[in-house]
Amino acid sequence: MSYGTPVPDGDPLMEPFWQNAREHRLSVQCCRDCGDRHFPPSPVCPSCLSEEQDWEVVSGKATLISWVTFHRAYWDVLQSQLPYDVCLVALEEGPLLMSNFLGPRPENAREGLPLRVAFDAVSDHLTLPKFVAA
Ligand SMILES: [Zn+2]
Repeated sequence: MSYGTPVPDGDPLMEPFWQNAREHRLSVQCCRDCGDRHFPPSPVCPSCLSEEQDWEVVSGKATLISWVTFHRAYWDVLQSQLPYDVCLVALEEGPLLMSNFLGPRPENAREGLPLRVAFDAVSDHLTLPKFVAA
């Protein structure tokens, strides 16, 4: 796969997330025992340590917590994209997610800005969930 930038490393724990993303669904891990929703996925529930973990499709609604603008390329292939933003969002269902804005950063970006997920199909195999103003 050639996307030009670092791609997911094939972690089997993450595969349901990427499969859902390819089908334009955002998902988080959900504990079958206590219902805790969490991300990134874990072999055991961070709340009750149960190994009974499932995946749940979530609404894609989120609020912006913060963002940072990178002015330095930590990978050479990102040099041409400088400066670029990385954002931290809180999903309506609770978990936090690091992502990017799809397109330019929303002009009215501020903490608490309502966002929604938008899917960026960067190849046949990889679709990245990103966020835009709701
Ligand atoms: Zn649990």
